[in-house]
Amino acid sequence: MTKRVVLIGHPVAHSLSGAMHQAAFEKLGIDARYELWDKAPGGLAEAITELRTEDFLGANITIPHKERVVPLVDRQTDEAHITGAINTLTKEGRKLVGHNTDVAGFKFALDKAVGKQKMPRTAIVLGAGGGARAIVYGLIREQFQRVIVFNRHLHRAEAMVKNFSKSAAHMDLRAMPWHESIIEAELAKAKILINATSIGLTSDESPIPAEILRQDLLVMDLIYAQTRLLRDAASAGATTADGELMLLHQGAAAFTLWTGQPAPIDVMHEALAAAREHGLRSAEGEPAGVDVDAEPVADAGAADAAAGA
Ligand code: NDP
Repeated sequence: MTKRVVLIGHPVAHSLSGAMHQAAFEKLGIDARYELWDKAPGGLAEAITELRTEDFLGANITIPHKERVVPLVDRQTDEAHITGAINTLTKEGRKLVGHNTDVAGFKFALDKAVGKQKMPRTAIVLGAGGGARAIVYGLIREQFQRVIVFNRHLHRAEAMVKNFSKSAAHMDLRAMPWHESIIEAELAKAKILINATSIGLTSDESPIPAEILRQDLLVMDLIYAQTRLLRDAASAGATTADGELMLLHQGAAAFTLWTGQPAPIDVMHEALAAAREHGLRSAEGEPAGVDVDAEPVADAGAADAAAGA
């Protein structure tokens, strides 16, 4: 029987994950199909219940459900528990286990971007959503000394900082209001800037002015594209990295959890690049600013299209 793995999000139509995972299943001869399920928040609990049946290997969870799914699982890994966000589900019989493979994906991307240099200890994070939680936890585990989080809605950044207060006891982790002058002052003291907002995903906008970027910065964007921020940073002489490696390696970690086999990284990488060339654009599928509470127009359910994309 063909096993099923689903991506549950809203919307999911632009996700790159389907192409990457279907190529990996095929390469290893695993009889499994990766489907896209477009579920508005009202349909999440029912979708999660369906996963308990035998034909599912597991799932990926994306915007806007990464935090909402937490109370619906039977067990969580430490990373999922501490970040409060789940992006991958595995099965233990009928039971569901929540994981956060974004943390591992980010670590791989950070190590690669830093290269042979000494790991910096100061960072600015823009954003306080599910992606930002994995980033901040990754920086805490890397023994960063000072991390400042800016978010449009300050209360969300404050809640995230509070959530990490125990694991960040050794360091200075703070939320600050999104004001250009404050961002500029803090950026002057930091070595890494990470964009974990969706600004730049669907429009050619940058979250910050180009003039405050410097040559000695490492600028990372979770968005899998040469965003305006990354282009501005490159013009300023900074080192840059987009979201590709994080996407690839969070996917590889999920693949191994579902199948028990090492992920065929090269095949996944090629499939990702090909899908992007065909116009798929998002690690997570969401156009920025979408009304996540709206019901889907049609259930994108059995999206073989995802695999074929
Ligand atoms: P969430 O919806 O959980 O968070 C979105 C974040 O973007 C929030 O901080 C939100 O601020 C901010 N934001 C959105 N629009 C605006 C705006 N117009 N102005 C200012 N801030 C804005 O999404 P995720 O954290 O899951 O994803 C964020 C980005 O990271 C996406 O582009 C996603 O594709 C990418 N991503 C990439 C991954 C990868 O593997 N490469 C993995 C995970 C995410 P507020 O809280 O104030 O609304």
